[in-house]
Amino acid sequence: MIKEFIQLIYPDYCSGCNEQLQFSEKGICSSCLVEVRNYSHIASHNTFGRKMVDQEIYVFKNFKNPLIQKMIYEIKYNGNKSTAYVLGVELGSLIKKSKNVVDFDIIIPVPVSKLKKEHRGYNQCQLIAEGISNIIKLPVDSNYLIRNNNMNSQIKSSRYERWLNVENEYQLIKELKYDTKILLVDDVITTGATINSCLNAIQKNNKLKVTVAALAGNKFT
Ligand SMILES: [Zn+2]
Repeated sequence: MIKEFIQLIYPDYCSGCNEQLQFSEKGICSSCLVEVRNYSHIASHNTFGRKMVDQEIYVFKNFKNPLIQKMIYEIKYNGNKSTAYVLGVELGSLIKKSKNVVDFDIIIPVPVSKLKKEHRGYNQCQLIAEGISNIIKLPVDSNYLIRNNNMNSQIKSSRYERWLNVENEYQLIKELKYDTKILLVDDVITTGATINSCLNAIQKNNKLKVTVAALAGNKFT
């Protein structure tokens, strides 16, 4: 009742098409959600750059579609937490459909730096991970992996320099058991540098099994 009253005063809008949402909808309207499901993608190859991964799973194969770009923008720059969570649920359903679903122990979101988290107020990868967790019923743990803060030169540097910068940006601060199977969750994968660096940290002392999941990736375009 209170929620409905609040929504009358501050109606929520779909992060895809800007239409007003129904009371039962969160973040994305049902017709945009139908559209979203046309793009899902499970990649069967098992390398990520030079790293070994179990598999890769994406809600969107290609994020150049305007609807997808809009949703991602809303998540990253417009504080749209519901959309991150709802797309996380979509990702969770895809993972559940894939045959390796029972093969994880833990969900680890790609961390953002403390500075960025303070600025944005949340880590979107954590919200996506929580959406996944709701479907596959595994715990999300953000206490293993951290991101350092020294990213100040990112904007001005070239694509290659950014890749080098990010190489050692992530650190494992709590040991993972030798046979832990990990689901690593990112928002969007562009150059792959972030995931590569996370894999460096996670697999440094131990070739742990990792599945990579993200809302979108442009590796397939
Ligand atoms: Zn919509």
